[in-house]
Amino acid sequence: MIFRMPTTIIQEADCVFAHRKELSALGTKALIVTGKHSSKKNGSLADVLRALEAEGVGTCVFDGVEENPSVETVACAARMGREEGADFVIGIGGGSPMDAAKAAAYLIFHGENGMESLYTPDGDDRALPVAAVPTTCGTGSEATGISVLTVHGKKTKASIPHRIFPRISLVDPKYLQFAPENVLRDTSLDALAHLLESGVNTKASPYSLMLVEEGLRTWNHNIKALLGAAPLDEQVCADLMRASTLAGMAIAHTGTSLPHAMSYPVTYETHFAHGKAVSCFLPGYLREAGEQSMHLMKLAGFESADALAAFTEVLSPRDRIPEALLERSVASVLANTEKLKDAPFAVDEQVLRRIAGLN
Ligand code: NAP
Ligand code: FE
Repeated sequence: MIFRMPTTIIQEADCVFAHRKELSALGTKALIVTGKHSSKKNGSLADVLRALEAEGVGTCVFDGVEENPSVETVACAARMGREEGADFVIGIGGGSPMDAAKAAAYLIFHGENGMESLYTPDGDDRALPVAAVPTTCGTGSEATGISVLTVHGKKTKASIPHRIFPRISLVDPKYLQFAPENVLRDTSLDALAHLLESGVNTKASPYSLMLVEEGLRTWNHNIKALLGAAPLDEQVCADLMRASTLAGMAIAHTGTSLPHAMSYPVTYETHFAHGKAVSCFLPGYLREAGEQSMHLMKLAGFESADALAAFTEVLSPRDRIPEALLERSVASVLANTEKLKDAPFAVDEQVLRRIAGLN
């Protein structure tokens, strides 16, 4: 059994400035990669700039990452990093900027050939050093080597095959206090999906299950606050962030499973938030897993897959997904024989159709 977690993860209030020396040790000039607005409003960008300035480290900021970042956007960020002579990359924000930072670090390191090999599974995972500062409580990208990008040519999203773990992740839950309710709700659904898909997975091991179980217990503490029935105080934010990072560590080991894979065409076409799109397929997946998912669902606070489905509809209501699009999700995953092996039960077209809610 192997368990690899090469990222130093520090979760505490004000950790960016407190750990500025570890952050600055990654290089002499940082390419900082962010979304368009939130890192300026929640204080995370200012914290990183202050920490680097105090240590005499240069910076340039690419603040053009959209939700579900595209290969093209990452190429723009990498171009800026190359022109500015950046020798490390910091992703600040939700999964979108953190994933974009990893891919930009790969492209800058590989220069001219980077674009051609971005999706080539050649085992060459070298990249500039990356640091991550998460500001949502969903993707766990601060603890994974995964980078998911939108590939417009294929009208979907896909993980790059290179594993680029952050060297250090500075996790300060205070940034969550600025997140709109829908961002907290949708990203916490993503964390829940990571925990359950990692737990119900052929790659699960006693190490990863330890993370899953602790993550689910932590996640469960916050249901009332997510539903608006308790205040979203400091403790809740710390718990939501911890559940998300634990979930990231779990999927770093197992990967996600069918609900994530089935969600990508839906996100591409409907622009549903990532967590919302995944939650369309999560109850169906757990229903198919039967008894083996019960223990984990109960740890999260749900008596059945139906109870989970009802909860997700209240937490994150969504429009009906057109059947043709669900059919596309089924077809795309059916063609991916490696992905089908992640589910610890036999999967065929009928099973996928049931997971998608098609007859
Ligand atoms: P996101 O796309 O990074 O951000 C969603 C929205 O939340 C954006 O509008 C962002 O604004 C805003 N936001 C972020 N933090 C905020 C804060 N503290 N306060 C206020 N607003 C805030 O959402 P995400 O769900 O975290 O990431 C989704 C992406 O991660 C998807 O591409 C998904 O495929 C990927 N993902 C990666 C992994 C992995 O292991 N690497 C795992 C699962 C999913 P700005 O744009 O202005 O910043
Ligand atoms: Fe996810």
